[in-house]
This record gives sequence, structure tokens and C-alpha cells, in this order.
Amino acid sequence: MSAGSPAPAGGWTTGRIIALEHPIDRLVRLRLHVEDRVDHLPGQHYVVRLRAPDDYTAQRSYSVASDPDDPLLELMVECLPGGEVSGFLHDIAEVGDVLELRGPIGGWFVWDGDVPAIGVAGGSGVVPLVAMARFAHRLGLSERLRIVAVARTWEELPYAEELRRYGAFVALTRENLGDRVAAPPYPSEVAPLAAGAERAYVCGSVGFASYATRLLEEAGVPVDTIRVEQFGETG
Ligand SMILES: Cc1cc2nc3c(=O)[nH]c(=O)nc-3n(C[C@H](O)[C@H](O)[C@H](O)COP(=O)(O)OP(=O)(O)OC[C@H]3O[C@@H](n4cnc5c(N)ncnc54)[C@H](O)[C@@H]3O)c2cc1C
Repeated sequence: MSAGSPAPAGGWTTGRIIALEHPIDRLVRLRLHVEDRVDHLPGQHYVVRLRAPDDYTAQRSYSVASDPDDPLLELMVECLPGGEVSGFLHDIAEVGDVLELRGPIGGWFVWDGDVPAIGVAGGSGVVPLVAMARFAHRLGLSERLRIVAVARTWEELPYAEELRRYGAFVALTRENLGDRVAAPPYPSEVAPLAAGAERAYVCGSVGFASYATRLLEEAGVPVDTIRVEQFGETG
């Protein structure tokens, strides 16, 4: 796909859970075989729809973590207290279950390697950046993508080891990491990573997204180059 082409979009389909694991309690990683899968671009998401026996349905969006080249679709879901869909996927879903899915979706929060970029994500907001990093790594474009990943602790950061292998800058707010004292990322830490980036991606909770947007602006990133994806009640 070349820069400027429309992002791929898929309709309703089904996905069979081929693998399911809990990297830590609270997170579930699902790997699905999707019927007639439309190749996604890094940053896109799927909608998962659950259906009760009385036909009541609930649907939520989940970013794709997998590289477009991966034969399976990977999602990483954080189980929220009382969460209708995340609770089901975390506590009840099993290998072999078939889920209703729609996707890939999204034409704005996507990166196909066309421009140098920086991504700043908090908690499960790293998921779309993982897809971007995997894609960049496979195509030898890692120099074009800088990632700042923020979490309270190392254990709570999904894909922490893998992100570090790809050279992500990790800021932990509740524990030290090497010589770095626990703190949110400082503009002075982000500015060198943002240098040369022509686009920025911010992903996380509503509160995180506004914090990270301000952080990028303070680090010298023009606000009109920042694309935001918010998870949460108004996401
Ligand atoms: C484009 C997009 C991509 C997303 N990608 C992912 C992803 O990769 N992984 C992932 O885990 N989630 C992702 N989300 C969030 C996901 O869609 C759901 O909002 C989340 O799983 C909660 O749904 P639920 O049914 O479990 O909770 P609900 O039953 O809807 O809500 C349970 C409680 O949690 C609160 N709440 C709802 N959503 C959030 C939230 N995100 N953060 C904090 N509190 C919340 C509600 O107010 C309520 O009190 C994404 C959202 C969007 C819009």
C-alpha cells in the first residue's frame, strides 16, 4: 500500500481462538484465525461482538497487535473491573471458541511506514504501536518509528520485553527502571525521539491521551501532526 491509499476495511466475519494466554492476571492475549481475513494496516482495530442466547449483543473495539504478515490476528485485552466484554474475553473465552468480528477498521490511526513517526502510548494503548513496531521491524523500517511506552510498572506494560527489543523508550511511573527514577516521561526525554518525526500517534485512556498530547507539544511536535486514539468511556 502506498501513502495516501485508503486503508483496508472489512465487514462482519468470525474468528476462531487458536491460542489464549494471560501474560499477567488482568491481561489476555488472543490469537485468532479469521475467515476471509482482509489484511490490516498497523494501527487499525476490530470490533468484537458478543451475543447472549436471548440475542442481546455487546460490542467493543480492540486494536490489532499482529503484523499484517502474521497468519493469525492478535488482540491484547485488559480486563476492566465489571467489564462486560473484556471480562468475558479474560475469564470465560477458551481456545476453540468462535467470536463475531468486524474489521479491519480505521483510516486515520494507521502507519504504513510512509513518514518517520513517533508513538506515545499508555498501558494497553501500546497495542496498535506493537503492530506498527512489528511491521517496521520486518520491513527494516525501525529507524522510522520511535516509541514511548508508559505504564505504572514493568509487569503491567503489555509487550514490555518486545517493545524494549525494538528500542522503545519505557517510562515507568511507579518503579525505577535501571537508572531512571519512577516518573512520567519528561519533554526533555521525548524531544530527541520526536526529532525528525513528521507524524505522532497517541493512544491510551482519555486522561493519558490529553497528557501525552501536551507532552508532545512541549517536546516540540506540531499539534496538527498528532493523531489520537482514545480508549475509555468517551473513546
Ligand atoms: C479504537 C479502540 C481500540 C481499542 N483497543 C483496545 C485494546 O487493544 N485493548 C484493550 O484492552 N482495550 C481496547 N479498547 C477499549 C475497549 O474497546 C473497551 O472499551 C474495554 O475493553 C472496556 O469494555 P468492557 O465491555 O470490558 O467494559 P464496560 O462494561 O464497557 O465498562 C466497565 C467499566 O469500565 C469503564 N471503562 C470502559 N472502558 C474503559 C477503558 N478503556 N478504560 C477505563 N475504564 C473503562 C466503564 O465506565 C465501566 O465503569 C479500545 C477502544 C477503542 C475505541
